[in-house]
This record gives sequence, structure tokens and C-alpha cells, in this order.
Amino acid sequence: MSSHRILQVALPVPLPHLFDYLAPQSGEVIAQGARVLAPFGRRELVGIVVGMTDESEIPYERLLPVSRILDGGEPLLDNNLVELLRWCWKYYKHAPGDVILSALPPALRKAAGEIPGPALHFRLTNDGIARLAQPPGRAPIQHCMLSALADGPQCAEGLAGIGSQWRKTLAALMEQGWVESGPAPVAEAKLMPGPELIPDQQEAVSAISAKLGVFGCHLLDGVTGSGKTEVYLRLLEPILAQGKQALVLVPEIGLTPQLLRRFRTRLGLEPAVIHSGLSAGERLDAWAAARSGRAALVIGTRSALFTPMPRLGIIILDEEHDSSFKQQDGFRYSARDVAVKRALQLDIPIVLGSATPSLESLSNAASGKYTWHRLRERATRASLPAWRVLDLRQQNTFFGLTAIALNTIGETLNRGEQVIVFLNRRGYAPVLMCQQCGWHGSCERCDAHLTWHRSIGRLFCHHCGSQRHAPRLCPDCRADALMGAGEGTQQLEESLGKRFPGIPVLRFDRDQTSRKGVMTDQLEQVRKAEPCLLVGTQMLAKGHHFPGVTLVVIVNIDQALYSADFRALERMGQMIQQVAGRAGRMEKAGTVILQTLHPEHTALELLLNQGYEAYARWLLEERQLAGLPPAGYQALLRAEAHERSVAESFLQQAAQLFPRGETRAYGPMPAIMERVGGRSRMYLVIQGASRSALHRQVDRWLPELRKLPSGRKVRWAIDIDPQEL
Ligand code: ADP
Ligand code: ZN
Ligand code: ZN
Repeated sequence: MSSHRILQVALPVPLPHLFDYLAPQSGEVIAQGARVLAPFGRRELVGIVVGMTDESEIPYERLLPVSRILDGGEPLLDNNLVELLRWCWKYYKHAPGDVILSALPPALRKAAGEIPGPALHFRLTNDGIARLAQPPGRAPIQHCMLSALADGPQCAEGLAGIGSQWRKTLAALMEQGWVESGPAPVAEAKLMPGPELIPDQQEAVSAISAKLGVFGCHLLDGVTGSGKTEVYLRLLEPILAQGKQALVLVPEIGLTPQLLRRFRTRLGLEPAVIHSGLSAGERLDAWAAARSGRAALVIGTRSALFTPMPRLGIIILDEEHDSSFKQQDGFRYSARDVAVKRALQLDIPIVLGSATPSLESLSNAASGKYTWHRLRERATRASLPAWRVLDLRQQNTFFGLTAIALNTIGETLNRGEQVIVFLNRRGYAPVLMCQQCGWHGSCERCDAHLTWHRSIGRLFCHHCGSQRHAPRLCPDCRADALMGAGEGTQQLEESLGKRFPGIPVLRFDRDQTSRKGVMTDQLEQVRKAEPCLLVGTQMLAKGHHFPGVTLVVIVNIDQALYSADFRALERMGQMIQQVAGRAGRMEKAGTVILQTLHPEHTALELLLNQGYEAYARWLLEERQLAGLPPAGYQALLRAEAHERSVAESFLQQAAQLFPRGETRAYGPMPAIMERVGGRSRMYLVIQGASRSALHRQVDRWLPELRKLPSGRKVRWAIDIDPQEL
């Protein structure tokens, strides 16, 4: 066996390769996945060893040794994870160091970080029991701690606060030999029985349970409230009973206290929770518990995907269509797609759950790549809500709401029920629209709608790049009624408060709920089941269970109907289904009111009359005709600069360098949200029918791009399988 004296190290620098270092002379054993401290310029950086070799492109005498081996050379990431991350940096074409270090908890990205050991338990020794039998004497606090331990072993937190010097007291007791410590025993899972499954649930559970030992991608496609979570719980039971671990991934705003409570009480264990809102210490503890196998269940958001879990037996990804599974900056990976890759690598099942599956997953299910499990009815037998479409052209509106909507809100509140008023503000392109006749700009060259770039007063086609002046009056009816769709709703919260005095108006959006405790307080208020108005964005559409809500009003969805982003209709359908799913989840039937200038739009008709599946099938056909994902493959070359022309000229040169082949480069064009933070964002679309051809051409292109001098004046990045334009 060769000695492999050269270490290939991933370092946190934005360069597209690994760095070679010499292994230390001392002959210390280093495993792949171990942390090292390596000299880099004048600094020392923490890196991960991802390979060992005897050859380097750098002459041997110029190679530097690593400064230090951390964690005693123990691998932090197992071989499977290192291979998964290697696949990621090749597929997403992102700097290896950035990719691999994103898999570490922040505390371990610094040399001083250490892997915490298991929590300790403290218990009385026989001497301690004897001491307790005697009077406290001059040490009442010690005695008090001994008696606290007389009820059984305790962890440190259980003893905290016994006197202000409790750590010293504890140390003294151990010194005396009255108390001893040991690793905390792993709590035995105490399962609570769940409800009897309804037939669709039973069928899904049986079918997936039969395939627990092997890779398989299972799409659990069930309307909101159909009991998908119950299915997850039933699948976790046998996995945990076999001593395996499970990973449950949820969208960013899906990680609610309600959800955690449900897993905790039903499975009788404490899940390790991993998300970006934790302190570095909490995150490290959860990560270490998962890595050591102590934590049987990990629940987390996107980044939890890379948690080392030595006995991983199943991955469950809830709300698989949710866009928060795609990281939108830096290492732009899709946690859903990589999770499928991880399951394949480990030969374990993965369950993708949604009431409104993405077109990608539906097409994989239709082609037989995924197994399709449908839950068609609500588990509680509550009926699905009734729809009511209101034509905005035929009615006057008050702060965006029609008289009919307002009256219905009033009646609902009078009956003592709760109402959601849903605004769809984020994530859609601004569209210039006539509030009088419904006119909106479309491209003369393409079958596409124009996007309004307000700051420069122009309309853009995001397919061919053509542009023109935004008109001031409606070209069709000459009315002075052109407005950006979705505008005029800002004052909604205030206006509703005035209109319904005495009724609490609770706002749920990112600004409001990012303040600590606000979300919990508001949810508490909703749970009181007294009449109230919930006003909010996307955040309201997901995860929460609002039993008192019987009416949902969707103020306006027209931006989505005419968006330049080809995914806008898919997202609109998902969003409408999801918000509607909040209405009438219990005994009382729900109603959903949808206001639009375009009640006759094919998309709306399909969605409301035939349901999401038929709607999705229609969207898929459209994508097939246009060669758009999932019928084709895309990558974006994104560039941003203070001045648009700088980004544009870089992209123009980049387009000229794009290698010839099946895949083509289109653009440059401005991003739908062009100006962000004082910078102009533009992109090229790389599109073609073959994934492998796309990757081949992009891989040939990237080294050329890195040589372009104009690339130094912009921030640029490649986005594989982009989700946003
Ligand atoms: P989903 O995850 O599909 O939205 P949940 O699993 O949260 O659905 O189920 C919705 C509601 O129905 C919950 O209150 C849950 O406790 C209840 N439920 C789920 N399955 C059953 C069942 N088989 N019998 C009775 N109630 C059920
Ligand atoms: Zn008009
Ligand atoms: Zn066009």
C-alpha cells in the first residue's frame, strides 16, 4: 500500500479546485473527511481532507505541509457524505471548499471548534446514599443536591440552579465520591398509538413499508389534511424500532412548534432539530448527536440534509414543491434533488410529500421513476372548501377588496369564525395591467407576457429580450388605469382594522414574524378561536393548522397569470391550493374567495373546476411544447454590477464563448427583479433537451469564462437547474 503523502484539501475560498498539501511527517493517521489547519497565503484556514494521492501538478518541493491535524485526525464527515459533496460541487459547479464547509456546523468551521461528547448523567454512589442518610450539617446545599439525585440520575441541566455555585457543588460531590457521572442513556422511544388509518393512508404505508430496505423515491401526493404527516409517522416507527436513524426535511417556515410537538409526542423521543436560526452551540450539539448516532431522528430545514448520520434508514421531505429547498445564493443546490441522490447512494427510501407536487416530481411519477402514492380525501373527512371567483372588473374595490368579499368577511366574523386575507406579493414579476379592461402587455415576437421594469419605464420580454416604452394610458381602452398588478394592497392591514373595529388583525409576513416571540404570540391568539383577521403572505399558506378559519380571501393573483417566469403559474396553483387548504379543516365547511381581473383564464378554470392534478398536466404539456423544464434542462449564468451595461457586456462576451452543441445560450436579459441593493442583475439562459449535453458544454465553457477580463468587474455565478429568473 502506498503511503499517500499528499492530501487533497477543500478550503473555504471561492476557487474551483482542491489544494494539495503534504501530510505531516510524524505519520499521524488522517482519514478522508478529517479537518486540518492549512497555511494559505499569510493565513491559516480550516479545511477538510477529501482525498489522498501521491501525485500533484505542483512540484513536490513547492508543496507545503498542513500546519495541524484537528480532532485527532478523526473524520468529521463519513466517506458517503464526502462522495455526495463531491458529486455536488461537480454538478452545481461550485467551489469545493464552499460546498464541503457548508456541510459543517458553523462552530466547526473554526479551528477552535470541537466536537462535543455526549451529555453526561450524574447519579448517587452508595457512599452518596449513606451521606444523604445523615443530617446536612454545614453543607445544606450539597445535601440538597444529593437529595435531588435521590429520585434518580439527572443531567447537568437538571441540577442547574441548586445554589448559585451549582457547578462547584457538583464537582465537590464528585470529589467526595458521593456522585459519579456517565454517559446519559439513550431514551427508549415510547410510541403513542395513532389514529386508525383510512384506506388511502393504509395503502401508502403498506406499499412504502414493503420497500424500506432499498432505494426508492416515493411521491406522497395527498391533498392538505389528507394525513401525510400521519403516514410519515407510521413509516418512522419501524425504522426507529430497528435502531436506524431518520432524516425529516421541511421548508423553512414549516418547522413549527406544532409539528415538532407532534413528532415528539407520537414517537416519544426528542428529535435533534437543525436549522439556521439556532445558536452555533445548539447547532453543534444537534449535529454531534446525529453524527454519533445518539439522535435517532433529525428534523431540519434545507441545510440539515448534509448531517452525518451513520445509520440513516429513511429520508422524508415534506412539501417537496417548496422553493425554500433550493438555495438561492452561494452554493445553489436543490436539497430535494440532492436528498434523492443521498438516498440512492445509501440504498434507502426517500418520501417526497406534497399536496401540490412540483411538475418535476409529477413527471418523474408519471414516467415511473418515482412511485406515486395518492391520498385523495381528507383524513378527518372534512370536506374541501367551496370556491367563489369574483371578477374585479365588475365591481368597485375598497383597498383591494370587493364589496362582496368585505360583506362575506363581516358575516364570517359575526358568526365568531376566523378569516385569512392573503396577499401575494413576493416572488412574482411586476406586470403592468389595466384595472379597467384587464389589458396587459405581450411580446409581438413571442407568446410571452411583458415584465414592467418600473425604474426605467420599460416593458421587457424575458424570452427574447425585446423591449419597449411602458404606455401611460391603456392601449386598448385609453383609460388612465394602468397599475402594477398586486399593488395597492399595502394599507390592507390598517384599512381592515378600521373597517372591523374591535377585531384583532394579525399580520404574518417575514418582517413581522422575524421578531422574536411574535409568531408564537400570534399563533396563541389564533388558537383562542375567537374571531380575528389573519393578513399575510406565503407564510400563511404553509404548515399551520388553523381550525377556526372558515374563510380565505385571496386578494389578487393576476401577477402570476401574466408573469414572465414560466414557473409562475405552477407556483400560483400550489399557493392557491395551499391557502385554500387552511380553510375549514375541521367540522365547519370552508369558503375560498378569489379576486381576479381574468376569471376566464384557462389556468384558473382548470385549477378550480378540475383540480391541481389536471392543472399540472396542462402545465406540463405547455412546458413540453416549449422545451422548458422538466421537459428540458436549464442553467443560468447570473451576473450583477452597479451598472447594467457592465453586467450586460460581460454576458454578451460570455454568450459568444458558449461552445456549440445541442444546448444554446439565450440573452442577456435583466432579472425579473432587476435592481436589488443598488445592483443590476442580468442573466443568460442556457437551455437544451439533454442534461448531459448541457453539463458537457457548461464544463467546457467555465474555464473560458474565468479568463474573461470583463468577468472581474462583475459578480457572476452559474445556477444549475435554476428556480427563479
Ligand atoms: P397533512 O400532513 O396531509 O396535511 P395531517 O397528517 O396533518 O395531514 O392530518 C390532518 C389532520 O387529520 C390532523 O389533525 C391529523 O391528526 C388528522 N388525521 C390524520 N390521519 C387521521 C386518521 N387516519 N384518522 C383520523 N384523523 C386523522
Ligand atoms: Zn384598458
Ligand atoms: Zn419576446
